Amino acid sequence: MAENRTGDVEAAVREHILLPAQEMAKLGKATQPVLTHAEGIYVFAEGGRRLIDGPAGMWCAQVGYGRKEIVDAIAHQAMVLPYASPWYMATSPAAKLARKIASLTPGDLNRIFFTTGGSTAVDSALRFSEFFNNVLGRPQKKRIIVRYDGYHGSTALTAACTGRTGNWPNFDIHQDRISFLSSPNLRHAGNRSAEQFLDDLVKEFEDQIEALGADTIAAFLAEPILASGGVIIPPKGYHARFKAICERHDILYISDEVVTGFGRCGEWFASEKVFGIVPDIITFAKGVTSGYVPLGGLAISEKVLARISGENAKGSWFTNGYTYSNQPVACAAALANIELMERDGIVDHAREMADYFAAALASLTDLPGVAETRAVGLVGCVQCMLDPTRPDGNDDDKAFTRKIDERCFELGLIVRPLGDLCVISPPLIITRAQIDDMIAIMRQAISEVG
Ligand code: PLP
Repeated sequence: MAENRTGDVEAAVREHILLPAQEMAKLGKATQPVLTHAEGIYVFAEGGRRLIDGPAGMWCAQVGYGRKEIVDAIAHQAMVLPYASPWYMATSPAAKLARKIASLTPGDLNRIFFTTGGSTAVDSALRFSEFFNNVLGRPQKKRIIVRYDGYHGSTALTAACTGRTGNWPNFDIHQDRISFLSSPNLRHAGNRSAEQFLDDLVKEFEDQIEALGADTIAAFLAEPILASGGVIIPPKGYHARFKAICERHDILYISDEVVTGFGRCGEWFASEKVFGIVPDIITFAKGVTSGYVPLGGLAISEKVLARISGENAKGSWFTNGYTYSNQPVACAAALANIELMERDGIVDHAREMADYFAAALASLTDLPGVAETRAVGLVGCVQCMLDPTRPDGNDDDKAFTRKIDERCFELGLIVRPLGDLCVISPPLIITRAQIDDMIAIMRQAISEVG
């Protein structure tokens, strides 16, 4: 019976679903593992096989699964008022959630715009930067500066800002007003010190501004750590120096915290408390609802808004929004999620686990095939290399990493495969003992496969 259900799901996926990452030669052939339910940090496959959810879904299941408080809030809101037009009507969940998020964001980032997820959050932030400069009467100030290895989403505009070049082929990516900077990946520093590497990155940014003209550049868009690009942690001081340059040239600093927000790095938001800057705009999604329902948004600085509102508005209307902006059920879920995180001290817990998690990952470096590990808060990775003298990301290492991931899966751990990286970003409620379980499985898998 159970097998029939799995077979049914697999058949329906094969026959009818177009996956977000689909090898087209295998359309209709390959399928994915089928999950049936989840509890805490675990997900279960058909037949009851238990797996630790190493990537927390897609870096989003902060409070873990089966949290009745969130489910009750969703059910209640769906019953009393499942929908209201954000154009004409206000509802209590969106209002309360905006106030709550404003209390968690750094500085004066107190005005919240809700979207349907991370891509639409970043897309809206970029459209805001366009609107901002048009209202200010400087229509030529539109260019967006981004980095190689950055990931910002799958709308036309956010895909164009994504510096994971592997995502570009066979799509028409319109990058006429987008400029790329080097990835701040310390593994590219060669024989330069971290300080020299940072100086070079800063110089590249300054040179680019000079070449393009600051009066053509609207925004610098950057993740605090480049998550999907390979858990890349920029050199110390990077964000502060880039922010200072943005300030000097009146360029909006948009911090894409879709992954790092809501506790992932051991703080509600990573920009200020982990990396020392107050950006002009923060985008968020994922952890805001712990993945229970889709929601995203942006928090915008009051100072920035003051420049184009009130007496400075010049008759303008901000006309950018979604049918599901301020969606009451999603906002109620997010409120319940945040209240739960506050009640149980989950962000503090993530911060307390961070050193243990980093040390546990680092303990794997005694294994042949592990080049290095990286971690911030509860996001980390293992860089798998059969021969550390070869360049990163070669096909042999990718195949080696895939085998490790497959073996981890057999042993009861989901790992996110990302080229030659095993990425781990567990639910924030994970305990020391559960971290030990994850690392034991990884150790066994790497040892067996290597
Ligand atoms: N920005 C970052 C930093 C992300 O990692 C992602 C998704 O992983 C997005 C934006 C896009 O978010 P979504 O997939 O919810 O549209």
